[in-house]
Parts: sequence; structure tokens; C-alpha cells
Amino acid sequence: MSEKFDIPFKSSFVPAVLEPGAKIKFNCHKGISCFNACCKHADIQLTPYDILRLKDNLAISATAFLKNHTVPYEMDKDGIPGVKLRTDNDGACLFVTDEGCSVYKDRPTACRYYPIGHMAMREAGASDDEAHYFLIQEDHCKGHEEEREVAVDDYRKEQEVEIYDQINREWLQLMLKKKSAGPTIGRPSDTSLQFFFMCSYDVDRLRRFVLTDSFKASYDLDDKFYETVEKEDLALMQFGARLLKQVLFGDITIPVKENAAENRVEERKEILALRRKAEIEVHKQKQEQQMKDALS
Ligand code: SF4
Ligand code: SF4
Repeated sequence: MSEKFDIPFKSSFVPAVLEPGAKIKFNCHKGISCFNACCKHADIQLTPYDILRLKDNLAISATAFLKNHTVPYEMDKDGIPGVKLRTDNDGACLFVTDEGCSVYKDRPTACRYYPIGHMAMREAGASDDEAHYFLIQEDHCKGHEEEREVAVDDYRKEQEVEIYDQINREWLQLMLKKKSAGPTIGRPSDTSLQFFFMCSYDVDRLRRFVLTDSFKASYDLDDKFYETVEKEDLALMQFGARLLKQVLFGDITIPVKENAAENRVEERKEILALRRKAEIEVHKQKQEQQMKDALS
């Protein structure tokens, strides 16, 4: 394997790697003595699909969700932006109630998987990535003392994580690609980091960007595509991952219009000429006013 696990939470425990087909001894239920203990120390990283589900659950925009319910963090040393669920000052998730999770049906991937950690890895030279799992055992979690045994695959089905993994797949591959490219890529520019944030997490801003005339002039996409992404967040989010792959890694899957680059240069020249003309006009008006003031 090429690297260590990234542990998605703060814990002093060394995770135990789970072999394919492994079973875990674990059960979590409302009557357990530690009920809600994990949510009172929440360090939950969010994926793009987590954000869509949660903002729909709360019936707010992605931009409002990001502003009010998340905190930013850097996912790697190059500053690739990630987002985590916001907590109160004691570290408790803002969604935890005495009755349990108030957004349970749309809870994030990390909450569904717990106490299983997971990550995709790619062997050197392999064309596909493989999922790897490990067990997180923390003192406060008494679920490990329960009698039930469950296979990892069955636990994933029970927690309905498969759809999350499937939808986030392209975005997760992008993260793997970034990691395997290593230091050759270096720290992306601030503009690229902002572009990454928008494409990954903020479908509202991404939609406005994709529907601009300059975007339409750059990419060869039909009306049906624009009708779909105007209405459907999921389609737009998945397009965002493709756009990132194309722009940041040159993985071309979105057709580019011929002469798009030249047209952009021409457009920019026209804009600069118009701006220059406007500045000269303002300067002239100021000078005239100064002369009038001097003569009065
Ligand atoms: S989202 Fe729900 S399950 Fe996840 S930490 Fe918050 S309260 Fe707990
Ligand atoms: S058993 Fe573990 S996962 Fe379930 S409520 Fe207790 S601490 Fe949380």
C-alpha cells in the first residue's frame, strides 16, 4: 500500500485494519448507555453529496448551509479545501438532540460508517482504486460490548452508505489523483483552490458559473445539459467533479468549443478597451469640472 490511513477524527486509538469479508461485533441503539456520546464529540468531514442531502433536509441553499453549518479546513498540505460540520463550543454536533440525530435520514457518510473508517487506495500501477476498511474503537463507545456480529458489507447496506459512495466516487477519485500526483503538482493557486471549493461544495455558485455566457462560449454542451443542471443539483454536483478533473488534471471529458481560448482573449481585449474608454471619459469629465471650478 502506498500510504497510511487518514483517520477522519481525533482519536488516540490505532485503527485495526479489516480484511475483506470481515465481521465486526457492534450494535448501536437508543437504549445504549452511551447514546449520543459520539455526536457530542463530533469531528465530521463532509463530502459533496453529504452537503446536498443536508441542505435539502434543512430546506436551505448550499451557500446558506456552508455559511451556517460548516467550518472550513485544509484537507492536505497543499491547502485543498474541505468542510466539516460546525459544532458548539463543547464540540457537540449542532444536529444532536435528546432523541438522537435530528437529520438522521440524511446524516453524513462518516456518521453512517462509524465505527468503521474507510478510504479508497490505489496500488502503484493499478488502474482502479479499492476500498479499505478499519475499525475505530473508542472508550466512550459501548457498541463494541454488544453481542451482535455483522459483516462489513451488511453494515454498509444497513447504514445505506452505498449510494453515498457511488455518487461521491468521481470526486473521491479526484482526491486520490491529487494524492498520487504527489509533490509534482505543488500548491494550486488561490483561484484554483476557490474553484475547487465551488465545484465541490457550493452548487448555487457553480450553477451561476455554468449558466454564464462565458462558460457557454467555452464548452460545447447542448441545451438539454443546461436545462438539466439548471434544475437538478445532483447532476450539477457530478458535473462539478468532471469539470474539476478537466481543469485541474487535464482529464478531458467535457467537449471544449473550437477557438474558445482565442475568443476569450478577444473578449478580454474588447472588455479592456471598453474599460479604458470609460476611464478616459471619467478623467475628461473630472478635468472639465476642475477647470470650471477654477474659473468660477
Ligand atoms: S449529523 Fe447526526 S449522526 Fe452525525 S454527528 Fe451530528 S447528530 Fe450525530
Ligand atoms: S454505541 Fe457508539 S456509535 Fe452508538 S451512540 Fe454509543 S458512542 Fe455513538
